[in-house]
Amino acid sequence: MIEEGRPIAVLPPGLAQRIAAGEVIDRPSAVVRELVENALDAGARSVDVAIRGAGLESITVSDDGHGIPAGELHLAFARHGTSKVRDMADLDAISTLGFRGEALPSIVAVACVTVTTAVERDAPGARLVMREGQIQEQSRVARTVGTTVEVRELFAGQPVRRGFLPSPRAETAQILSLMRRYVLAWPEVRFVVTLDGRAALRASGLGEAGAMAAAFATHAARMAPFGPLSAHHAEFGGYLGDPGLTRGDREGIILICNRRWVTPARWLAVLEGAYRPLLKPGRHPVLVVKATIEPRYLDVNLHPAKLEVRLADEDQALTALGEAVKAHLGRMPPRAALLDPASGAPRQAHLALPRRRLAERTGEYGSPDPGRLHVLGQVHGRLIVAVDDAGLYLIDQHRADERAIYQSLAARHHGSRTQELLQPVQVELRPEALAGIETTLPELARMGFRCERFGRRAFLVRAIPMGMPEAVGAAIAAAVDEVATAQDWRESIMISVACRSAVRRGTDLTGGEMRALLDRLGRCASPAICPHGSPIIARVGAAELARHFEWR
Ligand code: ADP
Ligand code: MG
Repeated sequence: MIEEGRPIAVLPPGLAQRIAAGEVIDRPSAVVRELVENALDAGARSVDVAIRGAGLESITVSDDGHGIPAGELHLAFARHGTSKVRDMADLDAISTLGFRGEALPSIVAVACVTVTTAVERDAPGARLVMREGQIQEQSRVARTVGTTVEVRELFAGQPVRRGFLPSPRAETAQILSLMRRYVLAWPEVRFVVTLDGRAALRASGLGEAGAMAAAFATHAARMAPFGPLSAHHAEFGGYLGDPGLTRGDREGIILICNRRWVTPARWLAVLEGAYRPLLKPGRHPVLVVKATIEPRYLDVNLHPAKLEVRLADEDQALTALGEAVKAHLGRMPPRAALLDPASGAPRQAHLALPRRRLAERTGEYGSPDPGRLHVLGQVHGRLIVAVDDAGLYLIDQHRADERAIYQSLAARHHGSRTQELLQPVQVELRPEALAGIETTLPELARMGFRCERFGRRAFLVRAIPMGMPEAVGAAIAAAVDEVATAQDWRESIMISVACRSAVRRGTDLTGGEMRALLDRLGRCASPAICPHGSPIIARVGAAELARHFEWR
């Protein structure tokens, strides 16, 4: 027998509100987020956040934004009461952080809220106290233009919710992490966050450099400006941590899209993918990427917490972003761990940087042009020691040659010149490799290796690409066998040939050979990273040396 059901009824408004509220306002940091976003949407230039008892005692957010007219104050607390969206067209081009009109009603459903606000300099402002979703008190008060929202007794009426909250320590960390994101997204806004009366985060609102220092402290010195990069309706910029600056979690990866911090899974995957070959397993990079996208090309209304976004032409834009980050990292020499990690503020805000080739930048972050380094000598038969005004460089000779060979193989095209080998190299193939021989030989020819069949199981290499060391002939033989079944055959061949024919460690080099090697490296797009993803250059920056020796 079917158990008798209860009659269908429409929930009384207070109850319905609580159910919905559960989804939006689930912890104190969610309140902080909504109040700060409202302040920013109101055009605030200064936002003060005061937290007591990890947010359960009180959360107070004060701003100097445009305020709320007294006559509209009660509407701010009505469900779907919003000043930001009027019709469907507005929803297609959202330029504010909030737009659903749900935050304040959700908060008053689970807390006691006091708002004081004023819209005009010399006119009285309004004060409203809400408790259990009802207006308790309404009055006129004096206040400078702006709004203060104080939230107390959060979840006092929801003992179960209180029981499931993260620890005060975790919640406080979450609030600070959140605030760092706003600091980065709104560098021209002054923020002060206090925890139980103690200042915990302070950003001047004077621009990117200050925001980076506030958000990343001393690590900011290890993050290099990136961009601007224009790609399919999006413009990207930001700061990329050097590959030695990593974390065990993804907390250091900050994405900001039209001033909204977001965590879209695909963007994260693309950025992490670009760093992956440079990081140890389980480590994650530290970076800030900001995207500016015309609102009509961006959908922010996908996710209840607005953490996902979707961009028109997302595939192309993300591919371009991933490639640019890879190229940037390829030019960025990992800092040698010869000295203690140095501290300091970032050299320059990216917004102030003119649009010029990244490779041209010099200084602490700059990418050295190996072709312009002054060679001092060779040490241990493995490293070339060189200098320029920005610092001292150690260059792995094998990897440098490997990169240069790889690059010239990759740059070759049909009809590029070849050179005959004095002595053709004979290549015996294993049965597995033999199967693909019909396609292998023309492919090799395109890369500049002229080969011909020799008996049933072998072929001869007769010519190699012009300008390559003769050792490449023998290297191709081994490479073809090695990578016969590789997924990305062409790429694997190039990497394998480069590795096998590059000058070995332990080989003494003359001054002329070192010079020629650096010149070839200087013509590569990614001179700092070898084709396997390992570092080629270590730099000890001039600024680091000055700090180390305390030169003033
Ligand atoms: P939403 O932000 O989605 O519009 P909220 O419930 O967060 O919804 O806020 C409702 C309305 O209250 C806003 O649209 C805005 O008009 C007003 N409001 C809230 N906070 C502030 C503030 N700090 N300054 C000015 N107006 C505010
Ligand atoms: Mg809002």
